[in-house]
Amino acid sequence: MNGTVYLVGAGPGAPDLLTLRAARLLGAADIVFHDALVHPETVALAINAEKIAVGKRCGRHSTAQQFINKRLVDAARKHAIVVRLKGGDPMLFGRAQEEIAALEAEGIACEVVPGITAAVAAAAELKTSLTQRGIARSVTFATPRVGAGEAASDWANGLKASDAGAIYMGVGEAKAMAATLLAGGKPRGLPIVVVENASLPGQRTRYTTLAALPQLAADEITGPALILIGPQFTARVTISADMDAARCRRSSRTATG
Ligand code: SAH
Repeated sequence: MNGTVYLVGAGPGAPDLLTLRAARLLGAADIVFHDALVHPETVALAINAEKIAVGKRCGRHSTAQQFINKRLVDAARKHAIVVRLKGGDPMLFGRAQEEIAALEAEGIACEVVPGITAAVAAAAELKTSLTQRGIARSVTFATPRVGAGEAASDWANGLKASDAGAIYMGVGEAKAMAATLLAGGKPRGLPIVVVENASLPGQRTRYTTLAALPQLAADEITGPALILIGPQFTARVTISADMDAARCRRSSRTATG
């Protein structure tokens, strides 16, 4: 009898941004394959499970993905509850479909447990709604990133047509991204906020505009970062800078006891 593989969303980073269903499954899991970025406290909820870190922080190769798929299939042949724990929500930029297809091809049952995706965690931290009446009625989730060997994509089409956007895995391609969106008719002054480490103590936010986005030094940003674009990302610059300062003071107090 094969076990079931659960693709579980771990949320954006803070360990308490986890669903109860995810926590319950982790507690019952026999084996957990987790992304490198998942918080250690979240992984530790799997008290009885063998815990295996899989996946690179970004730009996973398809061979690595195939290896993960195979390990999930093998694990389900030995264990009742297999958890594949993924950052944010499994169904957004998480390669969940490839894992689901691999499991279904082998006749292995799987279920998906949603998680809080980085964009909604960032919006919460900024206290700025991704949609706003009369200002932003559409939001596009996009990434300029294409995998090795994949054809270039028309990733910007949705953004050009939307009022607002949440761009994943985009920091390294900020220059090309800005050029594409400007050429597509977006205004130079369109507000942008880059949120690094959303929901974690090391969160940093930087406000800029579409024209100035290329100056954002990608190498300054070391944690996972999301680029939010839209007219609504102007209002709270001062407040969120203050919040960051307060957060730093709090965490340095904690660090020094
Ligand atoms: N499935 C995940 C996304 C995986 S792609 C989700 O739903 O959130 C990885 C990208 O997500 C990173 O390059 C970054 O753009 C974004 N990301 C993940 N965690 C983040 C965080 N805590 N803060 C900001 N961006 C984050």
